[in-house]
Amino acid sequence: MAAVRAIDIRTAIPGPRSREILERKARVVADPLSVYLPVVDDAGRSLEWEVHGESLLIRLGKARKAGEAFEVRIRYDAKPRRGVFFMAPDKAYPKRARIVWTQGEDEDNRAWFPSYDYPNQRFTSEVLATVEERYEALSNGRLVKVTHDKRRKRKTYHWSLDKPHSNYLIALAVGEFDSKEWNADGVPVQAYVPKGMGSFIDRCFSNVPDMVRFFGKMTGLKYPWPRYAQVCVPEFIVGGMENTSITLLYEYCLTDEKAYNDYRPESLLAHELAHQWFGDWLTTKSWGHVWLNESFATYFDILWFEHFYGKDEALMRIETDRDNYFEETVKAYKRPIVTHKFTESSDMFDRHTYEKGGSVLHMMRNELGDDQWWKAIRHYVMKFSSENVETNDLKVAIEEATGRNLDTFFDEWLYKAGHPEFEVSWSWDDKAKQVELRVKQTQEVKDPVPLFRVPLVVEIAWDDRVQRESVRLERADQVFRFDAPRRPKAVLFDPDDILLKKVTFRKEKDEFLWQLANGKGVWPRMEACRGLGKFIGDDTAVARLQKALTKDKFWGVRREAAGALGEIGTQAARDALLNGAKDKDSRVRRAIYRGLGMFRRDEVAFKALSEAYMDDGWYYPMQTAALALAETRHDRAFDTIVKGMDRPSQAEVLARGACMALANLRDERGLDVLKVRTAYGRPEVVRYGAAWALGKLASYHEKRRDEVLEHLVGLLRDPNYRTRVGAVLGLSELGYPKGIDELEKVAAAEPIAQLRTAARAAIRDIREKHAEGAKRIEQQEELDKLKDENKGLKARLASLESKVESLRKKR
Ligand SMILES: [Zn+2]
Repeated sequence: MAAVRAIDIRTAIPGPRSREILERKARVVADPLSVYLPVVDDAGRSLEWEVHGESLLIRLGKARKAGEAFEVRIRYDAKPRRGVFFMAPDKAYPKRARIVWTQGEDEDNRAWFPSYDYPNQRFTSEVLATVEERYEALSNGRLVKVTHDKRRKRKTYHWSLDKPHSNYLIALAVGEFDSKEWNADGVPVQAYVPKGMGSFIDRCFSNVPDMVRFFGKMTGLKYPWPRYAQVCVPEFIVGGMENTSITLLYEYCLTDEKAYNDYRPESLLAHELAHQWFGDWLTTKSWGHVWLNESFATYFDILWFEHFYGKDEALMRIETDRDNYFEETVKAYKRPIVTHKFTESSDMFDRHTYEKGGSVLHMMRNELGDDQWWKAIRHYVMKFSSENVETNDLKVAIEEATGRNLDTFFDEWLYKAGHPEFEVSWSWDDKAKQVELRVKQTQEVKDPVPLFRVPLVVEIAWDDRVQRESVRLERADQVFRFDAPRRPKAVLFDPDDILLKKVTFRKEKDEFLWQLANGKGVWPRMEACRGLGKFIGDDTAVARLQKALTKDKFWGVRREAAGALGEIGTQAARDALLNGAKDKDSRVRRAIYRGLGMFRRDEVAFKALSEAYMDDGWYYPMQTAALALAETRHDRAFDTIVKGMDRPSQAEVLARGACMALANLRDERGLDVLKVRTAYGRPEVVRYGAAWALGKLASYHEKRRDEVLEHLVGLLRDPNYRTRVGAVLGLSELGYPKGIDELEKVAAAEPIAQLRTAARAAIRDIREKHAEGAKRIEQQEELDKLKDENKGLKARLASLESKVESLRKKR
């Protein structure tokens, strides 16, 4: 693993410009690191030094004035366990590429070079890397020169970034690569992938030049760095990292078309590119404000989707983000997006910082209107050009650009937590010719969750016209009255689905039917599907959902129709689902398979799912089919899932889905199938999925818990990061208090911060589960039984209703 012979990093340690800086010394970490004498100053004099924990203290020899520039040379070597990673083939992974890569965010660059490692200061940087001649070394900024020492068979790459940036954005990648370069209005856009994978480049990266132009135009700032390189590296520990002018990416974004629709690398690429503006050019001043990096990258990715694929596609992305955020609020916590209360800064990189923040920016854009929003963004980018920012800077920039005061908005959505939950109903007052709309805000209002004061649009619709009303929701219970010529066909609450919220809107079946057939935007039609899913045993609902499933032009509506039919769960609904099963959009097929999974021990559904699992051909639908097969609890589900589980797919989504399907199936035989797949030598993502599923499955088999616990604990010390993550998730699922001691060791000593965060979450989970007591398993079984009974009841209800219907007709 001797790809890098020497690295010479030159950064400026910032001068003491503020009190805060004086208190933060340059830091090195306690990873095995040796500093060699002499540490020298710019005159070549040796200086005294000491290492204190994370600080390297250097005595300057003579007094220096604040703000005075001077040079210190530190010669050191290190064996970092984080920050820099050396990938190389071994017996178990003979094909693994020999590549070195780094990952600095949030505070890991200090593990491979002594540095001022906090984002609140910016400086220029240079990296000189000497490597064996067959390797290429890539780093930030501009390549100054390459010198070739032919005798010693080495090359030295000299990279320089002459515009200041923050320490965590310094990066290095060394290896043998295939590459390609584009030109985006003068900006060189480059893609590097491990040698031999060059055929993936076009499919993955060809839209990036368009993104470079789009972000440049919309922000008013042309791409600000000398070039934009993207480098795919093996076993990268995050999806992507926006190092200044050189984004590193995991190799799983290189995929064939069979993952498309369900997985689009463009989303990752747009996110990392957007960071070159929001994150790198304007950088958060501290981790508590990191949403200024991450929410912007999340939302600008969506804005590019809107520009390239249209508004409806963008809305679907926002929907998914909201669901991810809601899931975190249910499973873990609600917190203000801006906060300084965290155990470690890595705790901040959660669904609040990414997904909720993106949704908040979407609302902000709608509150300001497009013109004002872009005016504000451009002003913010220009005003804080090449600076570190905090949340209030954005608020002030908006005020200056638009004259709008967003105090309330920032207070509720950024400094407070949660989201509004509404119960809505409407009625028609024939005498007054008015629509009466009642809105109750029902979330528990308790610090930090406020009662929200938000603007919202209500649409009143007839066959031939619509009427839009703007209201402001600001009380726990409000009634609005709108004049209207006659009783409307439908009343829509937030028809463009702008607001981050949960809504229960009780409506008659006929209104949903009208809405599904006549809704202009996609959201009202989707909402109608969800509503109709509650009318069990209703032939009209099934027929109209089937029509939507097979005929609606937008896939998102077809997907909702499939979901609703699954909810309805009668034989007629099942047949309707089968009718749509050949949809050309994989995202709709996934919903159909999910829906078919609701039919317990149903031969027809099982057969359709078995075929889908083996023959759909697209990775994500096959993954969904595996999970649905488990839900059917069919006698042959186990064998079917195992038979197809080792087929390769993008990021092994199929194998991982099958692992989780075995856990959900609860068949004890799955334990051995999963154990085998955690072995060193299997793809790291499979090991991750298998370890996670193993813990979940063992939670249903008390006698095997100790054995699985021991197995997972062994994996906590695995050399592969993702496998360690899988083991932590597995222990969390296992919910066995005996695992807490081991997880505490991870939380204390694991080198990679995200995993320490995950370990703390797992400990919290286990304690909660344990507090609930052994009831959990009994409850699961009870739930299973109820689901079976429910299916029987639905069938009986449907047949009774049809009997009643035919009796009525006979009369
Ligand atoms: Zn990001």
